[in-house]
Amino acid sequence: MKIRAQIAMVLNLDKCIGCHTCSVTCKNVWTSREGMEYAWFNNVETKPGIGYPKEWENQDRWNGGWRRKRNGQIEPRIGSKWRVLANIFANPDLPEIDDYYEPFTFDYEHLQKAPEMQAMPTARPRSLVSGERMEKIKWGPNWEEILGGEFEQRSADVNFEGVQKEIYGQFENTFMMYLPRLCEHCLNPACVAACPSGAIYKREEDGIVLIDQDKCRGWRMCVSGCPYKKIYYNWSSGKSEKCIFCYPRIEAGLTTVCSETCVGRIRYLGVVLYDADRIEEAASAADEQDLYEAQLSIFLDPNDPEVIAQAQADGVPHNWLEAAVHSPVWKMAMDWKVAFPLHPEYRTLPMVWYVPPLSPINAAVEAGKIGHDGEMPDVRSLRIPLKYLANLLTAGKEEPVATALERMLAMRAYMRAKTVDGVIDESIP
Ligand code: SF4
Ligand code: SF4
Repeated sequence: MKIRAQIAMVLNLDKCIGCHTCSVTCKNVWTSREGMEYAWFNNVETKPGIGYPKEWENQDRWNGGWRRKRNGQIEPRIGSKWRVLANIFANPDLPEIDDYYEPFTFDYEHLQKAPEMQAMPTARPRSLVSGERMEKIKWGPNWEEILGGEFEQRSADVNFEGVQKEIYGQFENTFMMYLPRLCEHCLNPACVAACPSGAIYKREEDGIVLIDQDKCRGWRMCVSGCPYKKIYYNWSSGKSEKCIFCYPRIEAGLTTVCSETCVGRIRYLGVVLYDADRIEEAASAADEQDLYEAQLSIFLDPNDPEVIAQAQADGVPHNWLEAAVHSPVWKMAMDWKVAFPLHPEYRTLPMVWYVPPLSPINAAVEAGKIGHDGEMPDVRSLRIPLKYLANLLTAGKEEPVATALERMLAMRAYMRAKTVDGVIDESIP
């Protein structure tokens, strides 16, 4: 066993309001430069939706992540020697600039200039590009949310597989949620494996994945290889860039910019301990649906004295061990099991985890649509189909997500019972 520490993040999707403050503050600090205009180290997607860049979840199109070979081992999809050779001459799996599309605006002038009519004028969304290019792009960031009626585009979301598209196409059954995304600082990063220059590395001390700008030769194999499409090519410098998990701030004891500025307070940062010797084993699980549990199994309890002793022997600094003991990530993801990795089937062992959204459940309970006589509501009859959340977070396995939702619902009911006129009644245990 070799113990390593990893800084990780949990995002509570129940609380994200889709304000994009995280994206804008991150952009102002890290990518407000020539060559990085289109780059968003952090972006917030409307789900179901095609995402940014478009269809990033369609691994057949981009050849990202790792695949499992017949002998049980895993290899980067991009890593077969013929593909590497082909890519050196022309990387066929790169998104084009139109896959990152253009921003849109609203027809605000119409609010002032509309002729007198019975109904209030509305500010319709419109693209900032027009003509043939618009025809080709056809959407902008969060376009699907604004043009909610365009079901065909939205159901092109590959992650939608397994949920009945015909049900989704009925207006009264539509649903949406926000998914903020950043580099996952994976334990088994495909970008590191794909880089022919050896420019990408994972820091020993905290697991942050960085690109050495002096070593990068601009091959862009990392862009193809990253299944989350979270590496951007800087056309001005000729180098690739990615989220740096605000490492200069982390080193100074501060949070990331996206966490500090998050309006919904949805982001939790913490240190977790894991067994670095079991990474390949965890990423190689034969059945995709076992990948969430396989990843879970390599994390170690920071309250176990034996783990602490071994971590000290393996060189994990004292302050990181202390941070691991108080880590909200450990609590939510590994101990309480209410947070899950995004698309564990990519086999990169991502370290940005998500608490599935609960709000629609609560609204349904309050409306008396589910749950009765004080019984727990059946989370399988929720507005956001359980299958959809499971496809996003547990490679399709519904049971862990259902358990997490039930747990959160019980906690919310308990806290509400304890709270009288906004004051928590401490006499209730
Ligand atoms: Fe690398 Fe980040 Fe992509 Fe993981 S999510 S493969 S660490 S760029
Ligand atoms: Fe969601 Fe927070 Fe970002 Fe707003 S700032 S979109 S609440 S993650």
